[in-house]
Amino acid sequence: MSLITVGTMAFDAIETPFGKTDRIVGGSATYVAYSASNFIKPVQQISIIGNDFPEAELADMRARGVQLDGVEVVKDKPSFFWKGRYHEDMNSRDTLVTDLNVLADFDPKVPESYQGAEFLMLGNLLPKLQLNVIQELRTRPRFIAMDTMNFWMETAMADLKIVLRYVDMLMVNDSEARQLTGQFSLVKAAKSIMDMGPKYLIIKKGEHGALLFHGDQVFFAPALPLEDVFDPTGAGDTFAGGFMGFLAKTGDISFENMKRGIIAGSALASFCVEKFGPTRLKEVNHDDINGRIRLFKDLVNFDIELS
Ligand code: AMP
Repeated sequence: MSLITVGTMAFDAIETPFGKTDRIVGGSATYVAYSASNFIKPVQQISIIGNDFPEAELADMRARGVQLDGVEVVKDKPSFFWKGRYHEDMNSRDTLVTDLNVLADFDPKVPESYQGAEFLMLGNLLPKLQLNVIQELRTRPRFIAMDTMNFWMETAMADLKIVLRYVDMLMVNDSEARQLTGQFSLVKAAKSIMDMGPKYLIIKKGEHGALLFHGDQVFFAPALPLEDVFDPTGAGDTFAGGFMGFLAKTGDISFENMKRGIIAGSALASFCVEKFGPTRLKEVNHDDINGRIRLFKDLVNFDIELS
């Protein structure tokens, strides 16, 4: 099974109550790729970078089985840049700067070697570019998931609603689900989103876990209660990469298997928040991930006799 990942490869400047970074590597597709590569190889990346993106980071990705033929390098422009500041609760944040830079003229091309991929993860990106990638694929992947964020709802809502018609799953956080639908109740918001196109929906609730919806079925996965959350940047993308990597590895897109995928994604996300940027993701190995998945099992496992 193969997985195409699309999104930004970027520099981020992050402020949290615990510290500050200037310009570190980030981007939606960076996190998705590092995370997914724990389950499936190759991860076929589509993105765009400037002349400033570190060669060492590209080498790290390649070493983890991330194929970069679909990553365009623009010689005379800087990479996408995002700056954000987290609130005290670490669940909400303000975007301070979004500099599109190379992204402004991006026209994604799907390399010939990526054609025929069965899974497609459209990471956070301009909706019209997400759509371009779907249209560039000669055979529709078996399963297409997409992520988005408030920035695109504010600047490109019409395009976003078009892409929604072409995907199987949307992954958003609770505030984005409310913004997209105007519904406060997440159950009503879920119904409304599933009427827009995607038949599957994941609503992420930060430290309060994630909900999976499909028709009348709902599944809830907790987030691991962590003593310290250092930097939540990329947790959503890491979750998405873990989820899609797991589906691609198992080749099973049943609702039951998506439940396992959500736990795999949550386990990876729980590592991501432990250090700034993708640093922690690059340290963990197979045993660490299995250890976390075991903790999730224990967290939700209970026995009850009904009288
Ligand atoms: P997350 O915390 O999972 O929402 O993802 C944060 C990552 O998304 C950061 O590394 C940013 O570089 C990237 N990002 C921020 N804003 C955007 C945007 N408007 N489009 C695409 N990627 C973005």
